[in-house]
Amino acid sequence: MDLNTVTAHLPTADPAAWQPGDAWLAGGTVLFSYGTTARRLLDLTGAGWQALTERPEGLEIAATCTVAELFAFPDRSARAGQWPALDLVRRCCESFVASFKIWNVSTVGGNICTALPAGPMTSLTAALDGVALLLAPDGDTRRIPVAELVTGDGKTALQPGELLRSVSLPAAALGARTAFRRLSLTTLGRSGVLLIGRLDADGGFVLTVTAAVKRPVQLRMPAVPGSAELAAALADAIAPDLWHDDVHGLPDWRRDMTGRLAEEIRAELAAAAAEGARA
Ligand SMILES: Cc1cc2nc3c(=O)[nH]c(=O)nc-3n(C[C@H](O)[C@H](O)[C@H](O)COP(=O)(O)OP(=O)(O)OC[C@H]3O[C@@H](n4cnc5c(N)ncnc54)[C@H](O)[C@@H]3O)c2cc1C
Repeated sequence: MDLNTVTAHLPTADPAAWQPGDAWLAGGTVLFSYGTTARRLLDLTGAGWQALTERPEGLEIAATCTVAELFAFPDRSARAGQWPALDLVRRCCESFVASFKIWNVSTVGGNICTALPAGPMTSLTAALDGVALLLAPDGDTRRIPVAELVTGDGKTALQPGELLRSVSLPAAALGARTAFRRLSLTTLGRSGVLLIGRLDADGGFVLTVTAAVKRPVQLRMPAVPGSAELAAALADAIAPDLWHDDVHGLPDWRRDMTGRLAEEIRAELAAAAAEGARA
């Protein structure tokens, strides 16, 4: 694609270098396929940030970590046994309907900042209580949950020039039992509904709804709810205009499938909680 507004390409990961009209460039799979009106591209690919850093308190994922690097991580993680929620990594990477080329260059940060409802890196990191570290051009830094960073279809809470540096997943969420459900209208199609449930060590239940809705929606309950309680909580949390509507699924279908998959997750995690109580 001809990017005929672009006049300069600047390798830098320094937020102070950003000027109005610039765009951060990561894998480029959106910028070079959907196009851009940016004047300068500030290229993050040489940032040199370690893709994945394991610590006792959790996992830090650099914004420049590629989908391919993330996919390979559970096999080499020193904490795979302690962090069963790493099972979600592959499920979410595989929800990325992408060619070999895209898989290898597209980044976790680029996926979250693009803020497509079907962004699988948003699904993964929001479901595991990921917290984004943002760096502003004036030197300010702030942290915000990924579930709040993505605010709508293609919309984020990023301020002009703000750079997503990393996402941190806390050990408590990584240690949780999880349940994953995804539907698409076609075999290799983009996600129409993607739900992730979590049963935390304290018995708490967290359900994250993505793809079906324009932005992530999270329900948090002190214990696995009953069917009627969960259905009522979903109806309360998701206003009719929040259901996403595009060629990958009509809002009514997304609403009905969300209800069905949420109930499947509820039943799976209720059985796990009962088993845990008997053990
Ligand atoms: C064939 C094809 C299939 C695709 N399938 C899917 C799919 O199934 N699901 C899906 O969600 N997407 C899909 N996409 C869209 C896109 O490839 C992904 O969203 C990808 O993850 C974007 O990452 P990137 O690193 O290439 O981003 P880039 O193209 O480099 O950047 C995307 C946007 O994010 C901004 N940005 C990037 N990194 C940062 C940062 N660290 N801080 C602040 N802003 C930043 C850029 O300025 C730009 O606005 C597809 C694209 C193609 C071409």
